[in-house]
Amino acid sequence: MFEFIIGLEVHLELKTKTKMFCFCENKLDLSHPNSNICPVCTGQPGALPVVNRRALEQAISLGLSLNGRVAEKFKFDRKNYFYPDLPKGYQVSQYNHPIVAGGCLDIDLSSNERIKIRLNRIHLEEDTAKLSHVGDNTLIDFNRSGIPLIEIVTEPDLKSPEEAKIFLQELQLIVRYLNISDADMEKGQMRCDANVNISFNKDEREIKTPITEIKNLNSFKAVEKALGFEAKRQYEEYIVGGEIVKRQGKITVGWDENKEKIIVQRIKEGITDYRYFPEPDIPFFDSATNDFININNLQSSLPELPSVRRERFERSYDLSKEEAKILTSQKIMADFTEHVVSELKAWLISLETVENSEQEIWAKHRPQLLKLTSSWIINRLFYLFQTHNENFGNLKITPENFAEFIILIYENKVSSTIAQKLLEEMFITGADVDKIIQSEDFKKVDNAAEIENIVQKVIDKNAEMVKAYQNGKINILQFLIGQAMKDSKGRADPTLLKHIFENKMIK
Ligand code: ZN
Ligand code: MN
Repeated sequence: MFEFIIGLEVHLELKTKTKMFCFCENKLDLSHPNSNICPVCTGQPGALPVVNRRALEQAISLGLSLNGRVAEKFKFDRKNYFYPDLPKGYQVSQYNHPIVAGGCLDIDLSSNERIKIRLNRIHLEEDTAKLSHVGDNTLIDFNRSGIPLIEIVTEPDLKSPEEAKIFLQELQLIVRYLNISDADMEKGQMRCDANVNISFNKDEREIKTPITEIKNLNSFKAVEKALGFEAKRQYEEYIVGGEIVKRQGKITVGWDENKEKIIVQRIKEGITDYRYFPEPDIPFFDSATNDFININNLQSSLPELPSVRRERFERSYDLSKEEAKILTSQKIMADFTEHVVSELKAWLISLETVENSEQEIWAKHRPQLLKLTSSWIINRLFYLFQTHNENFGNLKITPENFAEFIILIYENKVSSTIAQKLLEEMFITGADVDKIIQSEDFKKVDNAAEIENIVQKVIDKNAEMVKAYQNGKINILQFLIGQAMKDSKGRADPTLLKHIFENKMIK
């Protein structure tokens, strides 16, 4: 029917110690309005800005990660407009010499296709104050005023609402890996404005509708929904000959998340209406004449980026695409997984046998160990996070302990029922595996006489089954073992159990 043309402008709150141009803490305290302010961030006459070096470094790190060109010279400009949340009457931003130009981000679509989204620029600016409307009054909180923001502007390369969502998710992951923003959309740390129009053929002519800018989208879902809604609206309006046929310029609208409708706000000012001009209180930065920032250091301290790590996980840990994606969806979790694997490797090597080299030992055991590790993290650990309403940042289990836990399973020293209980205990208390396993509830029953007892009871109770087994239905063994395991509350040694069953049931 039509094609989407989508470009995004994303604002991210940076994680610096202090605000962009003053020494107020960069901490959003919503419970005490106007408690974290000073003459600079409230725009008092005569107050002078001082540029936050960390914010510049963070913008450059992001630029390098997104293949942008870090400018040798850049400056700050005043973007003039009147609004109550802007005490100075202008926002200090960057106009024609942004800190980073160009760049791109590759994203993987659900069809497995990889596409390149070009970036126009990355620049720095300051956040505005926050307005809240209470009855007939409007209240203003300057705590947010002056918090450093990074703005990322894409080229109109996105061709569907889904692509826009994937782009934002990947960007969010990157800034979290770089540790420059928490980028939580619900908390307003990541905000998105989307520009959308459509193109289609009518009477053998290509039609392009004028652009609609949808402001302040605060969730991935809102981005997807709003873009879909607006594109369809534009198409339908065009077909019936509505305002869009006559309209020349861009309009700015809002998105009502509850009603799932757009709200028309104002006709967008042209670029000249902002009367941009250089901020006279901040000097031009020229890397040739100052060593305020060391770009080489920033480049060499970049972490491995999510896409690279995903692929490396897939390759070196024998994971599926989906598993690799889950395990790298948080840097802290990916670090944890790698730490566990290296512990497992160290354990194997410590077993040292004379005949085998380290590589041979690892090669022999790795498939099973890696499988256990990934599946216990993805299935059970995730389940525990959910049921206990916890997140990875608060995980009490150390990688060393988790590796020991995997080894217990690998060596068949615990049944999977016990393993699940064990993991939950470790999860709650953070205690060592060997300590927990000493306690009565977990103690393994590996005394042959005791197990014989259990096995005999199961055999007596299931005479029919035993007969069927003896007549060749060997699958029944699994059922019987299961019964005995249940009777022992999961504590019986599975190898011994199987062995005794087999012996006892020989005709
Ligand atoms: Zn301040
Ligand atoms: Mn902006």
